[in-house]
Amino acid sequence: MAVYKIGILKGDDIGLEVVPAAVKVLDAAVARYSGVVLEWSDLPVGYPSYEERGETLPESTLQALYDLDGWILGPIGHMAYPKDDPRAINPHPILRRNFDLASNIRPSKSHPSLPCLHQDVDIVIIRENNEGFQPDRNMYKGMGECMPTPDMALSLRVITKRNSSMVARTAFELARQRNGKKKVTAIHKNTVFKLGCGLFIDTCREISKEYPDVEFDTAVVDTFAMHLVIRPQKYDVVVTTNMFGDILSDEAAGLVGGLGMAPGLCVGPRYAMAQATHGSAPDIAGKNIANPYAMIISAQMLLSWLGNSKGDNEAVQAAKDIEFAVAGVLSEKKCVTPDLGGTAGTDAMGDAVCEALGRL
Ligand code: NAD
Repeated sequence: MAVYKIGILKGDDIGLEVVPAAVKVLDAAVARYSGVVLEWSDLPVGYPSYEERGETLPESTLQALYDLDGWILGPIGHMAYPKDDPRAINPHPILRRNFDLASNIRPSKSHPSLPCLHQDVDIVIIRENNEGFQPDRNMYKGMGECMPTPDMALSLRVITKRNSSMVARTAFELARQRNGKKKVTAIHKNTVFKLGCGLFIDTCREISKEYPDVEFDTAVVDTFAMHLVIRPQKYDVVVTTNMFGDILSDEAAGLVGGLGMAPGLCVGPRYAMAQATHGSAPDIAGKNIANPYAMIISAQMLLSWLGNSKGDNEAVQAAKDIEFAVAGVLSEKKCVTPDLGGTAGTDAMGDAVCEALGRL
């Protein structure tokens, strides 16, 4: 019997609605397999934790994560945190860096029954997560941004061979495993960032030699941004640096129905964290209308990653079942949220996926 210890960190705003839906779906999926057990730990994080304990990321939460296999993190509404309190930190940089979660895997998939800018889209963007232009995580100490004078700001971008290799390997492994075009496209701007993007793209090219069965090509970020809008069907797995990946993955989400359709998984050598691409959506929080798809599929990706890393076929199959059940709910269109043209609530859409799992 395989036991998986998984944390539940609901986060803020719609996190309180979409994370419980994802947990229910995972429970319903593994209930069908006697060899898979999920052991959940509810851990405080975000604004609810700040109100209760005075901290958005308590040390007890951080320490508890080290003993888990992975966790589900809801969106964090850090822009609304008090600016003058050092205990009201954005937990993202600490969670991603402490656990070496260098690869952020963000799929964008069109569903035939849903309004999309394009059909037949099935792209995964792998974004480096812990360096690049992100000033809150790209320094050992201090911040990667400063203002030498009141009217001048400098932002530093960090690219290392280590993290470039990690994301490149994640991309090639994924391209090899998944049922796609077996192709990796590395995105850069080495025409200008000759050293930073140069190091990134040279590293991707070097790693590509270990994967002769996977096609490899490169594209300059601005040209790629245009091709992604015009003909997204020609891409399979895309790998890039932090900021380019952040922007391009939101663009890719826009192609297939918006942020509610944009799941994600952050992975490193030992841990994985399910985290949807979207933010905490305060404009729709508490209304039971947030689309739980992104969070459900993020949790599904976590289960699949855990199953694959332990060679557990039942967990991997349970994850495939979720994908199948979700696709069924989307195609029926009876139980989808307003952003997808339906009238169902967040909880009703989650329950519909659980019911579809029960019918498999
Ligand atoms: P957002 O992603 O929260 O919302 C952008 C738009 O998309 C909003 O109109 C929102 O209603 C909609 N949306 C997002 N998720 C949805 C869902 N599941 N279903 C239906 N509609 C959805 O971005 P924002 O408004 O710029 O940021 C709000 C807060 O979230 C800010 O504090 C920001 O810093 C934070 N943020 C957090 C993350 C994260 O935790 N990963 C990512 C981005 C933004």
